[in-house]
Amino acid sequence: MPVTILIVVLVLLIFLIAIILIRTSAFLRPSEPVAPVELPEVDPDFVANHLAEAIRCETISHLEGTPADLSAFRELRRVLESQYPRVHASLEREIISDATLLYTWRGTNLELPPVLFCAHLDVVPVDPGTLDQWEHPPFAGIIADDYIWGRGTFDVKCQVIGLLEAAELLLKQNFRPERTIFFGFGQDEEIGGEKGAKQIAAHLAERGDRFEAVLDEGGVITQGIIPGIENPVAMIGIAEKGSLSLRLKAVAKPGHSSTPGKTTAIGILANAITRLENHPLPARLDFMRIIYSALGGAVSPTLQAAFANTWLFGRFLKRKLEASPTTNASIRTTTAVTMVAGGIKDNLLPASAEAIANFRLLPGDTVEDLAEYARLVINDPRVTVVPVPENAWEASPLTSPEGAAFQSLATTIRQVFPGAETAPYLVLGATDARHYAGLSDQVLRFTPLVSTQDDLSRMHGINERVHVGSLGRMVQFYMLLIDAWAGGELKRNPVELPTEAPGV
Ligand SMILES: [Zn+2]
Repeated sequence: MPVTILIVVLVLLIFLIAIILIRTSAFLRPSEPVAPVELPEVDPDFVANHLAEAIRCETISHLEGTPADLSAFRELRRVLESQYPRVHASLEREIISDATLLYTWRGTNLELPPVLFCAHLDVVPVDPGTLDQWEHPPFAGIIADDYIWGRGTFDVKCQVIGLLEAAELLLKQNFRPERTIFFGFGQDEEIGGEKGAKQIAAHLAERGDRFEAVLDEGGVITQGIIPGIENPVAMIGIAEKGSLSLRLKAVAKPGHSSTPGKTTAIGILANAITRLENHPLPARLDFMRIIYSALGGAVSPTLQAAFANTWLFGRFLKRKLEASPTTNASIRTTTAVTMVAGGIKDNLLPASAEAIANFRLLPGDTVEDLAEYARLVINDPRVTVVPVPENAWEASPLTSPEGAAFQSLATTIRQVFPGAETAPYLVLGATDARHYAGLSDQVLRFTPLVSTQDDLSRMHGINERVHVGSLGRMVQFYMLLIDAWAGGELKRNPVELPTEAPGV
């Protein structure tokens, strides 16, 4: 009898292992090998000087009240005009709102829908209290130790310069795009893009333009950040989270603190906050599954099997991913109480107290659902829950990683950055790209920079910088990608670029 049981258990175990293995092999998507290409010649020091000059224009977006210094944007325009004479002679440039730039590079085949490359001209301010910690002043445009230093080098003037430099070099080689190419550079991405990307999108929509593909800033090429994978990975954003701020207001009877009731408006509010924090939104593994499926054999076998069999290992994976704030934000709509106010004097019972809770929405969770969820969780008639209209937007639609734009972008990445894996992912913050969601089914978010965790932590922080060699590589990347995307079907394997014409 025990032998029979043992055999049954063994058979079941073999059966289970077989299911796990079959599902794992079906889950992984092996990446096609990419033929090496000869990269176009680019002088990184020359490009670095251009970026340094752009950094000296203090195109700061201030968060509250203070308007941007438009003379800095005019100065940046003048700098770009002098650095890129061929671009400014051959492409049409429109100024939208105060300082947003839209370049049109007319294609030879107007039947093909255009493509749009985006970046932004503005930068975040520098905290004056940190100035003495900068190795080089943030707006001096210093090149030292193989880096260009300053606010906006990484986020994201490198991309403005990278795109225009690529266009200038292609024009020098008499390159003519088949499909029309737009460059859209907003003036206020750091404060929401109302005057920049939103207006470019409105302007283009009015003209009836629809885009084959849109590329904005986004993931970079990193190493050692994704658990279970050693190779460098290029993270391509295929969607971004939405955002919702809810105003929570608790009311109670005012009076003197010598004769209080059981609780005050502040206590009621505190209880509501605690309830929200204790009831996080449920975790969902769909986006992490997309990443790990695309990474295929580059991931450790254990993680491959786990993600291929979330029916069995889902709980374990969720626990593991919840442990870090970054991966936790990739698997759920997050909750963060960020502001609180209440009471004016130590001996007065406050009539009300208020807080702001900010949620970042996974695609699939809507603003309306979230507000309702918060009311249900708080479940207290003394607390009202109202969305803050200017900070409420849905998560973006999803761009298919099977689509021609993603595939062509991934191929170009693997050609220019040999050894890099490519993976689709969910962008956690907000970018300008969300304003273009209505204009194209293929909106992607990628910044072609090889970056360490250290490089990333300097963004919006202290000692922001970009490596000179990486900047040169970025220009080579854009030259190949512009060539690829300028062709029909977003030509997957860029052909050899035309050689320089005599006399040009
Ligand atoms: Zn940015």
